[in-house]
Formats: sequence, C-alpha cells, structure tokens
Amino acid sequence: MVAQASFVVRIPEAIYQEMLAHIVASYPDEGCGVVGSKDGQVVKHYPTANAAEHPDDFSIIAEADMIRIYNAIDDYDGEMIYYHSHPKSEAYPSARDIEWAKRSGYLYIIFSHRFYPEPPYVRVFAIDADGGVTEGAVERV
Ligand SMILES: [Zn+2]
Repeated sequence: MVAQASFVVRIPEAIYQEMLAHIVASYPDEGCGVVGSKDGQVVKHYPTANAAEHPDDFSIIAEADMIRIYNAIDDYDGEMIYYHSHPKSEAYPSARDIEWAKRSGYLYIIFSHRFYPEPPYVRVFAIDADGGVTEGAVERV
C-alpha cells in the first residue's frame, strides 16, 4: 500500500527544470543525481554521471561523487535526496531501488519517461529499513 502525500518535498522551479534537463539528456539511459534539501525544500542540485554497468537498466552514483556531494550538503546541514529516472517503467521504486534505499535511508525522487516523448513525470518516495514504501508529494514552487 502506498500512502498519499504523507510528506512534501518542495522544489524551486529553476532547480526542477535543471533536474528535468539532466534526466532528459540521459535518455534512453537512466539519469541520476542528488539534490540537497533544508526543511523539506530543495536548495541545491548535484547532477552526476550514471556509473552503473548497465545504465539503461539501473543507476549508481560513483563513490567519489557521493562523498564529494555528501560533504557539500553536510556543510549546510542539509539532507540528501537521491533522484533518478526510469526510461520505460513507471515512476515507482524497483525491487533493486528498494534494496539500495533501505540501506541509505535517502528519499527517492523518480522520474518516468513512460509516456515519451511527453515530458517525464515525477514522484517522491520514502523507503524504510524494512522496505516499506511511502509516497510523498512533489511541490514545484
Ligand atoms: Zn529505479
């Protein structure tokens, strides 16, 4: 079961457009990156390369990129939110996404190109340590 809008992530429109451009440029592979948030509001965007062996099927951020971004976000006591895209499937965490998210504890923003060439749509999820998925709301501000 997915609970609706149990939390809200606010994304300034300028940052949302940057994320969208990065995701669209990655198509037909999965695109990925991180945003830093403060009090539920996204404040900074860190687009990254997809280091997965099969980038059309999964996304991984290289460890060196992760450490650099983690430290940058730590400087302003922000929270990391992981984002990536699904070129074909819906914007919902895959079984593999859930396995990774369980360990990281990050919120997951997922874009889907399912209706390509229409622009990708976006959803956000919290995944707990037991693999439970809760949907939040993305608000473009
Ligand atoms: Zn995924």
